[in-house]
Amino acid sequence: MEECIFCKIIKGEIPCFKVYEDERVLAFEDINPVSTGHTLVIPKRHAKDLWEIQGEDLAAVQLASKKIIQAMRVLDPTGVACVQLNGRGVNQVVMHYHLHLIPRISGKPPLPITGWELRQGDLKEIKKTADKIASAIK
Ligand code: AMP
Ligand code: ZN
Repeated sequence: MEECIFCKIIKGEIPCFKVYEDERVLAFEDINPVSTGHTLVIPKRHAKDLWEIQGEDLAAVQLASKKIIQAMRVLDPTGVACVQLNGRGVNQVVMHYHLHLIPRISGKPPLPITGWELRQGDLKEIKKTADKIASAIK
């Protein structure tokens, strides 16, 4: 089986523009950036998605992302979108967990991924769904 591209980056077999590294985490620039500074934060231990990632790695990714968006202040952002896709059905392309940190730079137009139309939902249906998920929590 072809090895995961992000695992290859971790091993140094493929280059990246690194911004941060620690024992559990690597962060580097996305080569198809949605905005200047678009950064990916990944666990060094391979896990496909949020279902699969171990708690300690997830915590490490989150702590690293806090450090990185702090540093992103040098880019003068008006905000940073933290986005993470799970599964082909929502357009996850690289099947190695990654958190996108996407700054909107001051003076630049809104990010295409941060706007969606708010439409009032059916409250009875919402409650039913909430109960269904809640009762499945382990
Ligand atoms: P997604 O799986 O849809 O959440 O996004 C995968 C992201 O990985 C995309 O934004 C790609 O531009 C990015 N990507 C894929 N290969 C590389 C690479 N070699 N270096 C940096 N970013 C990459
Ligand atoms: Zn991998």
